[in-house]
Amino acid sequence: MNLNNFHSGFVGVIGKPNVGKSTLLNTILNQKISIVSPKPQTTRTQIKGIYTDKDAQIVFIDTPGITQSKDKFEKLITKAAFSTLLDTDVILFLIEGSKPLSKTDITIAEKIGSLKNKNIIVGFTKVDLLKKREELLPIIKTISKYITAKTYLPISSLEKIGLNELIQTIKSILPPSPPLYPEDKVTDVWEKIIAAEIIREKIFLFTHQEIPYSTAVEIEEYKEKKRHLIYAKSIIYVERKSQKGILIGKNGEMLKKIGIASRKEIEELSGKKIYLELWVKVEKNWKEKKELLKRMGYIP
Ligand code: GDP
Ligand code: MG
Repeated sequence: MNLNNFHSGFVGVIGKPNVGKSTLLNTILNQKISIVSPKPQTTRTQIKGIYTDKDAQIVFIDTPGITQSKDKFEKLITKAAFSTLLDTDVILFLIEGSKPLSKTDITIAEKIGSLKNKNIIVGFTKVDLLKKREELLPIIKTISKYITAKTYLPISSLEKIGLNELIQTIKSILPPSPPLYPEDKVTDVWEKIIAAEIIREKIFLFTHQEIPYSTAVEIEEYKEKKRHLIYAKSIIYVERKSQKGILIGKNGEMLKKIGIASRKEIEELSGKKIYLELWVKVEKNWKEKKELLKRMGYIP
């Protein structure tokens, strides 16, 4: 690692649902890390992956799905997605290269075009489905009415087209800075965050709406006991005793269900065996406890 000439920073990834965002990040980061969830707001920790090599560290930030929905909540999510982008060094705007521009693409272009001083890279995804690259030209023409992009890159995660160029372009924009996350801890921190997100996702899936919003998941311990055997202890914080009851369920059935589903998925992701212990704790004001929020990565 050459720290004298090192670059680090954040890249916000945005694009309509199904554009190939997760596949691209997973291909770049070489592991399945993006949480797929029908409810975008499950992802509160927005780091989607950290790419580190000898001269740069790129922290990819995911944005919740952008939609055209008039639904109040959906609109809120869309707003949150755009505000996430304000704190990034680069915006990676993904457009499906093999399809005509959609209304959502235009909305995104309009929005990010209105942000000041932004470095925008437009990536055309799934170009393996494209007969001729020239088909992208009219799309570029339209998009460039709204934004001034640093570059337009044809990308295919499937056929590994443009991935290197993408990394190089991002590197050329990122400011000089030491790594933002310690390299040796990257996977570890990462696995912990992901494990917590998976558990939260399962809580979402299996319980009623009311529960997840008042729930926080902390991985208190995450230790490699033996090679490829992880012991993980997780605390699920809830605000009320009644919620604890729901989460544990009759004879502990609910917690068991959450535990089994979570373990399966964490094992799949990490390629390791997991011994997962789940505890439910009532912590009335967890949302106001700075130390707790810090530990869980909600705030820096
Ligand atoms: P996201 O909703 O933006 O995260 O999109 P996904 O990454 O989940 O991809 C949506 C669909 O597009 C999936 O069926 C992927 O297999 C497919 N897909 C993603 N990348 C490519 C690609 O480079 N080429 C092709 N042909 N299909 C892709
Ligand atoms: Mg996705």
